Amino acid sequence: MPKIVFVCREGSDEPRVSASPESVKRLSGLGLSILVESGAGLSSGVPDADFEATGARIAGPGEVGSADIILKVNRPTAAEMASYRPGAVVFAVMDPYGNEAALADMAKAGLTTFAMELMPRITRAQSMDVLSSQANLAGYRAVIDASHEYGRAMPMMMTAAGTVPAAKVFVMGAGVAGLQAIATARRLGAVVSATDVRPAAKEQVASLGAKFIAVEDEEFKAAETAAGYAKPMSEAYQAKQAALVAEHIAKQDIVITTALIPGRPAPKLVTRAMLASMKPGSVAVDLAVERGGNIEGSEKGKVADVEGVTVIGYANVAGRIAASASALYARNLFAFIETMVDKGTKEFAVNAEDELVKATMLTNGGEVVHPNFAAAAAAHAGEAPVVVTATPAGEPAAAKPTRARKKPDAETTGDAAAEETL
Ligand code: NAD
Repeated sequence: MPKIVFVCREGSDEPRVSASPESVKRLSGLGLSILVESGAGLSSGVPDADFEATGARIAGPGEVGSADIILKVNRPTAAEMASYRPGAVVFAVMDPYGNEAALADMAKAGLTTFAMELMPRITRAQSMDVLSSQANLAGYRAVIDASHEYGRAMPMMMTAAGTVPAAKVFVMGAGVAGLQAIATARRLGAVVSATDVRPAAKEQVASLGAKFIAVEDEEFKAAETAAGYAKPMSEAYQAKQAALVAEHIAKQDIVITTALIPGRPAPKLVTRAMLASMKPGSVAVDLAVERGGNIEGSEKGKVADVEGVTVIGYANVAGRIAASASALYARNLFAFIETMVDKGTKEFAVNAEDELVKATMLTNGGEVVHPNFAAAAAAHAGEAPVVVTATPAGEPAAAKPTRARKKPDAETTGDAAAEETL
């Protein structure tokens, strides 16, 4: 019997979908049988007929109970999980940090769950990297949203009636979203500058034709973790960074913030006083608003006036470009699932020894198995944490007690020696 894959229709606040006609075709090619919940693709511009045309059967929501593999964009709610069968394998963006109680619930429901955003950033897994695929589109969309609110032109225009100056855009955080924001703002003709705490960002910013602005002291030189992420910076560094930013931001028309630190609240980078120093009509976009925000006064899901600046705090910005975001997310999911299907026998099985599985599997065999969350989830469930050994998908795991590992990226850096560069 081929394994049944069920593509869920998301809740009303999520326009994206976890499959595309292309991914349905390719998943069918792996020997899987695909059910797509009626209307699942509508907000991404994919009617049921397009899924049917590439080999899916359109199903009612009740049929999710027959599924072996469940594809979602967001972590399933308790109500959704109630209709899944124990042993089902669920792939989604799970938002696990701070949501250990929900992870404990998924374990209790007997689900094997994978958090796509925990995919390691290694060459083999590049095609499965949902953080990159979604952040890229969010960075692009942030510039489009900013230009929509900005009452002036982005490029310099020399006309018979006079010259319109180019907009000055400052991007804070030059990771995946930030670099795409820089590239997009440059394409629209803006004069772009950017900052980051990771030294590696300096060259990338320059290669996109933007000016790099940062406090380049000893702490900056050591601000990147082995995994390529930013470390939380010391208070002394933050103070120097704030002074530099305050001076720079007063001359900008548009600020786009994207700064994140894995597993922690977003660093506050733009104060109300900095916003107040900007010219009337200026615009700021806070792409970190869902993680606490980089900008003081930004409001999740809203466009707010803060100290005379239009501060855009849209949530789920990738969802604002849903057709493209869904297509890329569907490819990320396909690439991961493909690694779990034997090419010869077409058997689907989870290999718990695979480094991608180890990094992303949250629950299995009734337990929260991911070392970053096991202890906290066990506290919610009132039990000792466990880890699993290799098990086929959906089967109960052999569990043994262990201590949860410390979260990565939790160390701070200390050198306060300063040399500021403009
Ligand atoms: P992220 O979303 O975690 O953070 C966004 C950016 O904010 C980062 O560049 C970070 O350095 C920056 N930041 C954090 N604190 C800051 C502060 N106080 N001030 C200014 N900036 C601050 O990062 P990301 O976009 O996921 O990218 C993280 C890294 O992973 C980058 O080096 C990126 O190039 C790399 N990456 C590697 C791969 C791969 O190898 N497959 C894929 C994607 C990204």
